[in-house]
Amino acid sequence: MVNFEQMPLSKELKRALKGLDYKTPTEVQEKTIPLILKGNNVISKSFTGSGKTAAFGIALAERMLQGRAKSVLILCPTRELATQVGKEIASIIKFTGFKLVTVYGGHKISTELREIGRGVDILCATPGRLLDHFKRRAIDPRIFDTVVLDEADRMLDMGFISDIKEILAFVRPEYTHLFSATLDGSVAQLIQKYIPDYKEVLIEDEIIGKNIIEKTITVSRNSKLRELIGIIKNAGEGRVLVFVSTKRYADKLNYELKDHL
Ligand code: AMP
Repeated sequence: MVNFEQMPLSKELKRALKGLDYKTPTEVQEKTIPLILKGNNVISKSFTGSGKTAAFGIALAERMLQGRAKSVLILCPTRELATQVGKEIASIIKFTGFKLVTVYGGHKISTELREIGRGVDILCATPGRLLDHFKRRAIDPRIFDTVVLDEADRMLDMGFISDIKEILAFVRPEYTHLFSATLDGSVAQLIQKYIPDYKEVLIEDEIIGKNIIEKTITVSRNSKLRELIGIIKNAGEGRVLVFVSTKRYADKLNYELKDHL
């Protein structure tokens, strides 16, 4: 199996990956990085947890270091994801000197404008807030030659289709990469219209379908925490992974569980 040391990556990136303790690429990274480095558009069916952020982050940072990409725009459905992606990319580009800015709805616009004013090499953004910046002429859309549509299915589910179309019309990127848990339905239409030529990377979710029993418990808001504590206690020595919808709620639940367990 290859490791990052053996991959054709610049020393700045290898040093950052070492710091992050990423030794071997995940499947999506092993398949996606060489394709992006060669100048392909990549469409990838991959899930959260597969390492997809570093897959496009490493490959695009390398292309920028080689002078083969100018600036990169990463579109994300939510502010939680934009922040998370921004943090991971920031650690990858730590030694490159590239400037990363993250913009999202609900964030203070004056802070964003100040950061943008210092220069942008990589921009992580939610669609609505990005259009706001384009319309204020705070950022020139034409600086971006590469666009990543991250969690494209979620962006479409959230009704961002017209925003995405408007953004792509402003930017007119040379390269477009798309990551999504599904590639059919409206995502397929988006690909057909905007990404005519691409290579596909399909990663199956290893968890789905294997030893999973799905159960639904309907609870009132008031009894939710009590039910959850019961489930966790019942799991005994087993580990429990709890998914919640927002970063803020994850923090709140963390405190509540610490009090009760
Ligand atoms: P993602 O699928 O992008 O949400 O990433 C899932 C998690 O895996 C992130 O927390 C990353 O920090 C971590 N990760 C990504 N690539 C690697 C790697 N090659 N080795 C170890 N951890 C990784």
